[in-house]
Amino acid sequence: MDQKGILIVISGFSGAGKGTLVRKLMEVHNEYVLSVSMTTRAPRVGEREGVEYFFTEREQFEETIRQNGLIEYASYCGNYYGTPRKYVEEQLTAGKNVILEIEIQGALKIKAQFPESLLIFLTPPSGEELKRRLEGRGTESAEVIARRLARAVEESEGVESYDYIVVNDVLEECVEEVHNLVGAARRAPVRQRAFIKEIREELQKFSKGAD
Ligand code: 5GP
Repeated sequence: MDQKGILIVISGFSGAGKGTLVRKLMEVHNEYVLSVSMTTRAPRVGEREGVEYFFTEREQFEETIRQNGLIEYASYCGNYYGTPRKYVEEQLTAGKNVILEIEIQGALKIKAQFPESLLIFLTPPSGEELKRRLEGRGTESAEVIARRLARAVEESEGVESYDYIVVNDVLEECVEEVHNLVGAARRAPVRQRAFIKEIREELQKFSKGAD
């Protein structure tokens, strides 16, 4: 069957636990890699260059856009965020499932460019729980939290564009649920085009002369 990796988009409300889920998924299963995005946002305490993000100035970000170096980018709460092209293309070819942890505008651009990508939307069990997690993080001001909650309302309008919605309640269960969805997605004919073509051609060869 086709060995090329799947491009997986994981979005979710800020505070849905995307980062934790992705880290755990990569820890438990070795066929996943995470694309590190570029952003103009300032690093939070503890964030490292090239690990959480490539932190850049606006000018450099815009230059990368001009050079077609990003497969998508979006503006989110006043900052640019974008996915570098090279790493994603190399890893997919190497058979890895590449995870993009990105917001909804970027997710929709990915789906338009790569129809065989898999879009998963992660949500906490309730709005109340989301608010609690955002406040509990303790890294953001009340104003930023309010903006992120407002953005969550907007994003909730776009959830129907995703392939699956997954509730992040118990982390380990959530990890396996996502892994199983990816496994099932691999078997969809849209992601097995090369295999289908190959088997069809083979069968055509065998059937020659049958009538
Ligand atoms: P944060 O500032 O909390 O790290 O990220 C803010 C939002 O930007 C999150 O929803 C995150 O998933 C999204 N994001 C991170 N990287 C990218 C990217 O490369 N492209 C897009 N479109 N969104 C991103």
